[in-house]
Amino acid sequence: MVEVTPSTYLASERTTMDFARQRMKDCCQRVSTFLIVSTALGTLSAATAREWKSGIVWPEPPVVEPGPVGSPPADAIVLFDGKDLSQWNGGQKWLVEDGVATSRGGGISTRQGFGDCQLHVEWASPSKVKGHGQGRGNSGIYMMGKYEVQILDSFENETYFDGQAGAIYKQSPPMVNACRPPGAWQTFEIIFRAPRFAEDGSVERPAAMTVLHNGLVIHSHFELAGATAWHKPPEYKPHPDKLPIHIQFHGNPVRFRNIWVRELAPIVGKKPGDAEEEKADDAGSQDK
Ligand code: MG
Repeated sequence: MVEVTPSTYLASERTTMDFARQRMKDCCQRVSTFLIVSTALGTLSAATAREWKSGIVWPEPPVVEPGPVGSPPADAIVLFDGKDLSQWNGGQKWLVEDGVATSRGGGISTRQGFGDCQLHVEWASPSKVKGHGQGRGNSGIYMMGKYEVQILDSFENETYFDGQAGAIYKQSPPMVNACRPPGAWQTFEIIFRAPRFAEDGSVERPAAMTVLHNGLVIHSHFELAGATAWHKPPEYKPHPDKLPIHIQFHGNPVRFRNIWVRELAPIVGKKPGDAEEEKADDAGSQDK
């Protein structure tokens, strides 16, 4: 049996501490070795990795001067700049005063037809509240004369939800009610995709709309079930690629200003393979 004296006890304590220190040192060395190897591998992998490219050759997007906030961009077709409604059939019926057009006597339709487009409209329901529900500040923007985004004074005014301001009429309520009080100016940004019809008249791709009301998204690429009507379910009937935009007169003096539209066309790129095929096609057609 070993006798434990004060000196042997101290010696064994030192041995234990030395052992712990050595273990700590080993551990630190392992961690630093791991970090050095990981960094080296990361650098090596970054050096050897290849950037992914789609291979599609894109045309350069055209430069468009956006203009000051609230004004039409350089490539917009101005439909109403506060002076007159000469761009609209039926515009002579409406009152144009102080840069504002007030609806009366019937609806108006653009002289030009539009398909895929971005439409900016500013509108205001009457300051003096009259009527209720659908009878209060009612109007509407009909894309292609068929697909309505509802205009209504929906500020503390109850009606059916798929008929309130910003609704795609009787097809979808807006995601939120962003209506300002009666008389206040409001904005609609409508991004519209026209429907596509096959030769047999069937729907190849339905119409779709993204709508912002006073800057808030209220529809995000909503696909329509057909034309919007108050008296029958939505349905599609084949029609041309471009048709006039219509603004409804529903018996209420709704005001409008600053209306402009941009025609939209997706940017189309080509894969190099497509170009080769085209060349082959060209050569083939020359041989004949
Ligand atoms: Mg309406």
